[in-house]
Formats: sequence, C-alpha cells, structure tokens
Amino acid sequence: MSNRFEGKVALVTGGSRGIGAAICRRLAAEGADVVLTYGGSKDKAEAVAEEIRAMGRKSEALHCDASERGATAALIADVAARYGQLDVLVNNAGVYPLTSLAKCSDEVWDQMLAINLTAVFEGLRAAYRVMSPGGSIVTIGSVAGDAAQMPGVGVYSSSKAGVELITRAAGREFGRKGIRANVVQPGPIDTDMNPADGQNADLQKMMVPLGRYGEAEEVAAAVAFLASEDASYINGTTLKACGGMTA
Ligand code: NDP
Repeated sequence: MSNRFEGKVALVTGGSRGIGAAICRRLAAEGADVVLTYGGSKDKAEAVAEEIRAMGRKSEALHCDASERGATAALIADVAARYGQLDVLVNNAGVYPLTSLAKCSDEVWDQMLAINLTAVFEGLRAAYRVMSPGGSIVTIGSVAGDAAQMPGVGVYSSSKAGVELITRAAGREFGRKGIRANVVQPGPIDTDMNPADGQNADLQKMMVPLGRYGEAEEVAAAVAFLASEDASYINGTTLKACGGMTA
C-alpha cells in the first residue's frame, strides 16, 4: 500500500459501517488521519476509529446526524479548526428507502433528502470554506442516479441524481481554488444497505456483467484514487464502480 495520504486529514461521513468504514480504513492505510461520523452506530464507529489508531494514525468517531440541518456544516468547521486542515472530504452517509413513488410518505421523502442531498450540499459548501488548494472531495452517488433500474428505487434515484450534479457543479465552481470534487457511483455493494442475499439481489447480480456484488473495499479503492494526487487533473466527473452495470 502506498502512502498517498501521509500528512493529510480526511473526514468521512457515515464511517461506522459498510462502504464508509472501508473508505476510512483505506485512507488510513495510505497514511491519512481520519475523522469519521456516525448516526446511530456509536460502537461500530468507535471500533473503526480504534482500528485506525492502531495503525498509528489519528482518528476519532464523532456523532453527527446527517438529517439535522446545519450539523454537517458545523462538524466540518470544527474538524478543520481543531486539526488545522482538511484535505479530503468523503460524502458517504446515505439511506436507501425502497418504496414506490405512490406509497412514499412525506416523512420518508424529507428524511431521505435531508441525509442524501442536503447534507452533501452542506458538506460541499463547508469544505470550500475550509479547504486549501489541493483539497479533494468525493461524493458517493449510485448508478441508481442514472436510471431507476427497479421498481421501488426511483425515490432514492432522485437523491442520487441530485448529489451527482451538485458535486460536479462543485468541481466546476471550486476548481478555481484548486479544490477538486468528483463522484463515485457504486453498483450493488454487499453491505447492510443492500446485502448480497437480500431482496432483489439475484436481479441485481443478473444486471451486472461481472455477475456479482461488489465489495466495499472495491469502492474504497476508487475513492482513494479520486481523493489522491494520482487524480490531480480529474475534476467534476463521475467514476462508476459497478462491475459494468451501466456499460
Ligand atoms: P450502510 O447502510 O451499510 O451504511 C450507511 C452509513 O451511513 C452508515 O455508516 C450510517 O451510520 C450512515 N448514516 C445513515 N444515516 C445517517 C445519518 N442520519 N447520520 C449520519 N450517518 C448516517 O450503507 P452502504 O455502506 O451500503 O452505503 C454507503 C453509501 O453508498 C450510501 O450513500 C449509499 O447510498 C451508497 N451506495 C450503496 C450501494 C450499495 O449497494 N450498498 C450502491 C450505491 C450507492 P450509522 O449506522 O451510524 O447511522
């Protein structure tokens, strides 16, 4: 493993489980100090931070409910002030309400938009204010942001289409300050959100040319690439980690 993030400070939202936890481990393995946030999974988040400290990096798990207006922005300002820098932001926290449009309640819609879209908007804006040139932002979208591939996914798709576009817009607007912003769109990844033996899993496997779910670590590798200087001329774009699902 290379040391692409030596001396860098990274913040990963929703780092307690799944893809977020894998991103935290990957950035730390490549040298970053990693702050991660959690909503409900305090013990798991603290275990990830402990693992990272055992690698010899700084790490802390902070509670930050992404559905709470202002919480993500305040968290980013606080971390940047305490660490004296913020080099990498990964907007990862997300929820996946599987519901038909016709049956989606106002509460589900509002909660999903607050976490999947508004918190990302806050994260982008707050990161712009604290990042120095060379900073990098990666947002976790989804191939569902390109198309509502299955019944019940459309409500979620709308939030993931939104985060893709707002992140690419950030790449356009922040580029002048030397800050890059890109999107990773995973296909089906085996996590609590979308277990490889769960509802619609066989259908999803059939839709992927590689014929399988991806692992969280495979998404983390794509995120680490975009966050690193290896991607220094890659800005305002989308990298799909989906096994060819959208080919
Ligand atoms: P998981 O359900 O395994 O993990 C979700 C993470 O988001 C957890 O760390 C959770 O923290 C955090 N989170 C959820 N709600 C909140 C909240 N209100 N405040 C703070 N944190 C919150 O999902 P994945 O790891 O699979 O998903 C990670 C990202 O990847 C999401 O944006 C998802 O949409 C996206 N994605 C996932 C795919 C998949 O197939 N798995 C495919 C495409 C995209 P806590 O438990 O502490 O609340």
